[in-house]
Amino acid sequence: MSADWTGFAYLVAAVCFIMALRGLSSPTSARQGNVMGIIGMIIAVTTTLLDPEVISYEIIFAGILVGGTIGTLVAFRINMTALPQLVAAFHSLVGMAAVLVAVAAFYHPEAYGIGTFGNIGTASLIEMSIGAAVGAITFSGSVVAFAKLQGLVSGNPVVFPLQHPLNAVIGIAIVALTVALVFGQDPTSFWAIVILSFLIGFLIIIPIGGADMPVVVSMLNSYSGWAACGIGFTLTNTALIITGALVGSAGAILSYIMCKGMNRSIFNVLLGGFGGETVAAAQQAAGSRSVKQGSADDAAFIMSNANQVIVVPGYGMAVAQAQHALREMADLLKEKGVDVKYAIHPVAGRMPGHMNVLLAEASVPYDEVFELEEINHEFSTADVAFVIGANDVTNPLAKTDPSSPIYGMPILDVEKAGTTLFLKRSLGSGYAGVDNELFFRDKTMMLFGDAKKMAEEIVQALN
Ligand code: NDP
Repeated sequence: MSADWTGFAYLVAAVCFIMALRGLSSPTSARQGNVMGIIGMIIAVTTTLLDPEVISYEIIFAGILVGGTIGTLVAFRINMTALPQLVAAFHSLVGMAAVLVAVAAFYHPEAYGIGTFGNIGTASLIEMSIGAAVGAITFSGSVVAFAKLQGLVSGNPVVFPLQHPLNAVIGIAIVALTVALVFGQDPTSFWAIVILSFLIGFLIIIPIGGADMPVVVSMLNSYSGWAACGIGFTLTNTALIITGALVGSAGAILSYIMCKGMNRSIFNVLLGGFGGETVAAAQQAAGSRSVKQGSADDAAFIMSNANQVIVVPGYGMAVAQAQHALREMADLLKEKGVDVKYAIHPVAGRMPGHMNVLLAEASVPYDEVFELEEINHEFSTADVAFVIGANDVTNPLAKTDPSSPIYGMPILDVEKAGTTLFLKRSLGSGYAGVDNELFFRDKTMMLFGDAKKMAEEIVQALN
């Protein structure tokens, strides 16, 4: 394939990727978005394979076979709730790929057409250093994020004196070493950049609490995009440059959206120290107070006599995989003439869009699913708010207690409904580790149990 055709094909692939992102921004167009992404990827991979400079198809296909098999097996076996750590693990591979490409380009620059060993152009050396540094940071940062999310190490923030100044010194050293590499082209500077970048990736992620990991994963997603972009410059591959930049900016925007949904600044997340084990304390605080408790039959009775029920799903619904039972419950209520809607908080669950994906999987009609600002005013006229496995996103403390970690986060006004049903296993707190005053209110009824099991029992009772 001539260079012109290759450039054109990569451009078409890049347009497909942009349309894929556009499609993925709404549940109704997400499938088309995925299809566009697949088409773009097929064009990009085929174009690369048709490059006359390909030396060995055997090695490439062996790589595709091994990687593809592992990826497919992992994708089939992974639970929805474990997606954040899977994504973190995959990001680490992108980071390592960027480092390896930089190493290859440094020792064999002639293969990339960027000079000879010890005689590489300044621009290429800078690109290579940035690619290696971002890649190494992405690798070690993602490994720490994976370990915290998988529970291999404690999710508690690891903080020590002079942590931030130390990070700053390492950051400055990496810049200084890049300058030294440009002028001296010596392997020592190159490897020092790589090693210090691995170190700083580790150091910037350890102070971040396990609870903030979703934001971190999305940030590492952004880094992995920029690392791929760096590889694109080294390999002079426009498709990689554009796709890397798309992933890089999409990840950065996602982190911003998550922080906004939690009313926290990205610096507050990155400087760390939030999200330790405060759950026990919250449970203790709740210990001595009494709540109104109901059964599946009570819930079925209350909801079937309502005109409007607003369902508020949260992380617990995802853990319990209760979405199918929930949809069945809603179907039965609708048959009885009850108006059922779903209210989705922007940070319900552990990933943006977490609830939307699960509800879509259970074939909940899109026109019954509403964002916070679209539906919040309806709670005051709804008879029942059915909160299933959600907690923080309903906590009124976010409005009243400036010292609370969730202060300022917009919440779903479930307390304004005629009756608020909370389906969860205990009075335990959620992600932010804070007690929820609503459990103790007169209009609240607690339905203690696993979200799926209890939803199934309500379905039985409705039948
Ligand atoms: P929360 O984490 O506040 O609460 C979830 C509740 O689910 C828990 O209180 C738990 O109570 C209950 N639960 C757990 N397992 C089960 C089960 N098997 N059956 C029934 N209930 C269960 O979730 P929310 O969705 O309300 O809020 C999300 C939180 O995550 C927010 O604080 C948000 O800031 C944070 N977050 C979200 C991100 C996102 O992008 N979506 C990213 C980063 C953070 P119990 O143990 O009593 O059952």
